[in-house]
Amino acid sequence: MSSSSASTSEGGRLVLVGTPIGNLGDLTPRAVEALAGADLVCCEDTRRTGRLLQHAGIRATALRVVNDHTEEGAVDDVLARLGRGERVAVVSDAGMPGISDPGERLVTAAVASGFVVEVIPGPSAAVTALVASGLPAGRFAFEGFLPRKGSGRAERLTALADERRTVVLYEAPHRVARTLADLAAACGPGRRVVLARELTKLHEEHWRGTLAGAIEHTAAVEPRGEYVLVLDGAEPPAAVTDDAIVAALADARSMGATTRDAVTEVATQLGAPKRRVYDLATER
Ligand code: SAM
Repeated sequence: MSSSSASTSEGGRLVLVGTPIGNLGDLTPRAVEALAGADLVCCEDTRRTGRLLQHAGIRATALRVVNDHTEEGAVDDVLARLGRGERVAVVSDAGMPGISDPGERLVTAAVASGFVVEVIPGPSAAVTALVASGLPAGRFAFEGFLPRKGSGRAERLTALADERRTVVLYEAPHRVARTLADLAAACGPGRRVVLARELTKLHEEHWRGTLAGAIEHTAAVEPRGEYVLVLDGAEPPAAVTDDAIVAALADARSMGATTRDAVTEVATQLGAPKRRVYDLATER
């Protein structure tokens, strides 16, 4: 697939700018340059981004509020600006825009219209917590915030019970205890978890233990500040033995199932390849 971006106008580009997740020292020189050179900075909160720009010594940059409610409505104006060759920067309150933060819709629209999309990478709480967790980081699943309630939450928790990769979740402090309890119910109390708190800030802390221990810990010490939960992946299922398959086949047949139906039923029930179950059903 081609990776070239045929801009519909010379120079118009959307620039995603990562900003600190707590420590202003993590604002990179490239981020400062991109923000200073932008014709417009889209941000969630003008006061907060205004303070960041002030800290970086940047003056008189036009700001536009782009949050979950206003992002869709900002698309046409941003595309028009890109069409005039402007540089439009996107920041969120903290970390990488587009990661549990606005930005994705602007990127999708800019890509669809053929504009260049550039990234000035900065910290993201998810990756920062993951790499310090001590849990496997080779493969991981980012879950963002779980739905607060209802079937959406139940479905995601059920899926997490079998997720083999390390899972990274965001959670608000007042909901950490509830989420730990729900994770323990879904994944078992012995699953390892890391509570990464106030990353890059004065009170940074990484609590490591099991879900049961984390529930006790948060009952004793009320969660405060910002949290990332890093959850160990599920253990691989125990290997199914030939004897277990043969016994299940015998059970299914004793209930009147044909060989064909018994093979399908047992393969599904034990998660074994159908060919293997068929061979065992026909060789004994
Ligand atoms: N875009 C951001 C990023 O790239 O990490 C995430 C924004 S999301 C709205 C905010 C959530 O990120 C917080 O509720 C918390 O779960 C996590 N978070 C952000 N900063 C953090 C920090 N310094 N320490 C721990 N968690 C943090």
